[in-house]
Amino acid sequence: MDNLTDKNFVAMLKGGYKCWLSKNQAELIKNALKKKAKFIEVDNIFLKAEDISFILPAVEIDREDRIKKGDWRCSFCGRWHAKDEECGCQGGRFK
Ligand SMILES: [Zn+2]
Repeated sequence: MDNLTDKNFVAMLKGGYKCWLSKNQAELIKNALKKKAKFIEVDNIFLKAEDISFILPAVEIDREDRIKKGDWRCSFCGRWHAKDEECGCQGGRFK
């Protein structure tokens, strides 16, 4: 059973489309690509192999989206903040 929180991987498709995948779905698609399948069917997802640019963990996409938005990540505590927001941690420690 898949729900949204299981979708930890993203397949980037031609045209900038994102297809959210569970780890299991991502593995199945990767294996199909390695076997040079032309078409890939996983659960209710049907993909043309040549439309898939790459598959990567969703956290990578999240980081890219945030950087594009202008968000920044505190290097001490690792939290994300809006452009004009200050973190307020003391080198990773909180008061
Ligand atoms: Zn911080």
